[in-house]
Amino acid sequence: MKTWSEMASIQPLAVKMLVNSLKKDRVSHAYLFQGSRGTGKKAISLLMAKAIFCQYKNDAEPCQNCKDCQRIDSGNHPDVHWIIPDGQSIKKEQILHLQKEFTYTGLESNEKVYIIEDAEKMTANASNRLLKFLEEPSRQTTAMLLTSNSQSILQTIRSRCQIMALKPLNTGLFQERLEAEGVSSSNARLISALTNNITEAMEINSDEWFAMARRIVVQLVEVLQTNPDESMLFINNQWMPHFKDREQLQRGLDLLALWFKDIVYNYVGNEEAIIFINEQDKLTESSMHWSKQHATKALRYILEAKRKLEQNVHPALVMEQLTLHIQR
Ligand SMILES: [Zn+2]
Repeated sequence: MKTWSEMASIQPLAVKMLVNSLKKDRVSHAYLFQGSRGTGKKAISLLMAKAIFCQYKNDAEPCQNCKDCQRIDSGNHPDVHWIIPDGQSIKKEQILHLQKEFTYTGLESNEKVYIIEDAEKMTANASNRLLKFLEEPSRQTTAMLLTSNSQSILQTIRSRCQIMALKPLNTGLFQERLEAEGVSSSNARLISALTNNITEAMEINSDEWFAMARRIVVQLVEVLQTNPDESMLFINNQWMPHFKDREQLQRGLDLLALWFKDIVYNYVGNEEAIIFINEQDKLTESSMHWSKQHATKALRYILEAKRKLEQNVHPALVMEQLTLHIQR
């Protein structure tokens, strides 16, 4: 639960614009909040929804205590609809359902708000459906689309939204904040490279699974360097059993990518940027094994593997191809 004044310390520009539009009663029909994880997309859309419905707000600041505010926080407000991906994507049926709901007048007021999380995951059909919906705005509807990748959103949809670009957080500051919370400096560095959400960061820090994941990633690199013939065996016996679902696997690949980035940083002499500060010896070994060009190529292969996972390619197959590519 955040207030506008708290959010203003993270996203001063966006908050100023939104608060102004609320004060002047000039809220747009549609917003597109774009920004990476932890930049406050969800917190801002919650605040907007509350500011629209709260009867007791002070200027634009919702009271946070009334029935409307509380129901918005708990996701139970009858006139605030959330759409989240159903599995890997947001489907046409979900938008159709929303549209149908909206043909009824508001249950308790005439206002209606809908929020689409991970809007870049809309299928082409869902996007086209939403576009039609945006083209015929009813006066009291506010749409908020949340995305970390606005390039994947149809230009025709983007052009109908007021685009609010949220600033990436300063990772150095975030790292300091984690250290102040008691996270070791090497962990704070690694975790701030993966997220800028404090709750998620603290969870990762105390997560045994993550500590093990980090070890396995370093081990995989060592196997690739010293015993490439055994890398398949390692993938089958160590890697796959630990990274069980796609989300875990994405995290493992993120860690692997950070390792290869560190090799590149080593080459270009950008030591301050190195993430695995506690593994300097192993990083030096890696840098002796892989050229800068090879490390850069490996990074590309890792990104490609991440994309394939998103496209539902079988995880074991993705890992198999990746290790083969990196070895070459
Ligand atoms: Zn309220």
